[in-house]
Amino acid sequence: MEDVIIIGGGPAGLYSAFYCGMRGLSVKLVEGSSQLGGKLNFYPERIIWDLGGVEPRPAKEVVAALREQAATFPTKVLLNQAVVALKQQAEHWQVITKEGQVHEAKAVIVATGTGMVAKQPVIWGDAQAPQIDYKLATAERYRDQTVLLYGSFAKVKRALKKLTVAKKVIVFGAEKKFPAEFTNLHVIPEPLRVTVKEVENQLAVTLTFPGENVQPLLVDCLVAFQQVNHAHPLKSELSKRFEISEFGQVTTLGQGKTDLAGLFAVGDASQYEGKMNMIAGAIYEGLQTANQIAVYLNNEAEPVGKVSTHHPELLKKL
Ligand SMILES: Cc1cc2nc3c(=O)[nH]c(=O)nc-3n(C[C@H](O)[C@H](O)[C@H](O)COP(=O)(O)OP(=O)(O)OC[C@H]3O[C@@H](n4cnc5c(N)ncnc54)[C@H](O)[C@@H]3O)c2cc1C
Repeated sequence: MEDVIIIGGGPAGLYSAFYCGMRGLSVKLVEGSSQLGGKLNFYPERIIWDLGGVEPRPAKEVVAALREQAATFPTKVLLNQAVVALKQQAEHWQVITKEGQVHEAKAVIVATGTGMVAKQPVIWGDAQAPQIDYKLATAERYRDQTVLLYGSFAKVKRALKKLTVAKKVIVFGAEKKFPAEFTNLHVIPEPLRVTVKEVENQLAVTLTFPGENVQPLLVDCLVAFQQVNHAHPLKSELSKRFEISEFGQVTTLGQGKTDLAGLFAVGDASQYEGKMNMIAGAIYEGLQTANQIAVYLNNEAEPVGKVSTHHPELLKKL
């Protein structure tokens, strides 16, 4: 059994994992989506300016840095495991996933933010390239062009009517779904990831399929209809135990504390008077929570961890 299970791998969960490691606690991090980074994956190219002492950098780079930091100490990371229930036992907690897996730990940190929010599709790479339209432009823009069209079936089907002027239109899905009238249409299977790179005036697109099989494409335009998908698989469980917001955020006592022994909540998942939903706040709460858990599990533990400059395990890594 782990000392701590962290539910959610956004900034709050990732930093909590790092600081639990600083406190010598064993950690399992359970993330419901296929990637770590939480809401930062929602705005990967946006520049984050307000992290103390860190130069302004795109959110995707902040995610990479948080992931790397979380890996400083051994952390078991599980992806695609949405947590739906929590059970309090005599001296530990059970964390139950949608697939019915049961994970056990002496303490649990809820770092679920406002749930699982994803922009579909997510475009990786040069997402702001001029060849990408997030809304359909006038038909003229696509005349005699090779266009990759990506979005929900209904939107794609509507857009195809304007795209009859294109030389070729590539869409994802099952061929039989598309009416035969679109003769310029080329249908390929839905990829897991679409990565783009601007090359001269075109877009080099790399499609990644299950098993990390990749297929390159060169297109003139990408039309990507983005939609926001939102789910909070743990909201109903949290509502049985806490006062929660409409977004499933728990009202806490601050600094990660709840009034349930061994259960903590950090980051956007934790709300209290004066709370700011920011990465810096998530980091501070992660640190405070790891310190509290160290004492909760061993009442002789130091209430505050050693600073990183003097931390014996970190010094060994130099
Ligand atoms: C457009 C935008 C711009 C922003 N800009 C800034 C900025 O410039 N500076 C700044 O400091 N902050 C910014 N923020 C806020 C910042 O992104 C959040 O405060 C931060 O992401 C909170 O981190 P978190 O880990 O608490 O939650 P989240 O980032 O929401 O992560 C929660 C994680 O938990 C997972 N999860 C949810 N439910 C479950 C479940 N049941 N089981 C398993 N996993 C689950 C989710 O998939 C997700 O990975 C911005 C937010 C937005 C939307």
